[in-house]
Amino acid sequence: MTEIARPGPTDRVVILSGAGLSAASGVPTFRGPGGLWEGHRATDLATPEAWAADAELVRRFYDMRRELVEGVVPNPGHDALVRLQQAWGPKRCFLVTQNVDGLLGIAGADEVVEMHGSLRRLKCERSDACPRVAVTSLQDRDRACADCGGRLRPDVVWFGEMPYAMETIYSMLAACTVFVNVGTSGVVYPAAGFSSGARSVGAVCIEINPDPAGGPFKHVLAEGAETALPRIVDDWLSA
Ligand SMILES: [Zn+2]
Repeated sequence: MTEIARPGPTDRVVILSGAGLSAASGVPTFRGPGGLWEGHRATDLATPEAWAADAELVRRFYDMRRELVEGVVPNPGHDALVRLQQAWGPKRCFLVTQNVDGLLGIAGADEVVEMHGSLRRLKCERSDACPRVAVTSLQDRDRACADCGGRLRPDVVWFGEMPYAMETIYSMLAACTVFVNVGTSGVVYPAAGFSSGARSVGAVCIEINPDPAGGPFKHVLAEGAETALPRIVDDWLSA
């Protein structure tokens, strides 16, 4: 493997993270086969149709998922990303994540685009313009929207819904000179297109994944984020 060049002051780094970033924190995923919960496939419950048919079932599913992340803590991979962003600022180090566990924010990141939302928040089912609500107790999820009285639903992007902040993400990709893909399968659209988008503007593409998915990457580190990221960030900040 060739050495990864240290980005300079004019470089713009975009870092996309997925489930692999949080794996070392013990956050389970629900995409695998056999991912049944109370007899339902998890992918069937994460849909607007499930919410319309049985909101209480969907609420209980998300209660369970939220409980699973409530006890987990950031790992050295999250901490490394936060250190880099705090040193370089959110323009030079743009963090976007597919994870809904909120761990980058808990690790101290000031600006993270959570493109699939967060298990730790609710939103009004009627409008994204209504205020988000943090979930701090089971009672929160039964409250109504303070603005319009609508039901509060999980603030997560369900199958069939558009991920958040795509315009911002694509504009950052169009301007980036380094793209890092951390722990995503690389096969789920639209994140799968990010690396090829970054490559098309000449960015150096780096993949960090114990089980590399392949793609237009100049550098592939087949290891966990919790060991690779602290090493890379230490090197980049040592200049
Ligand atoms: Zn509302």
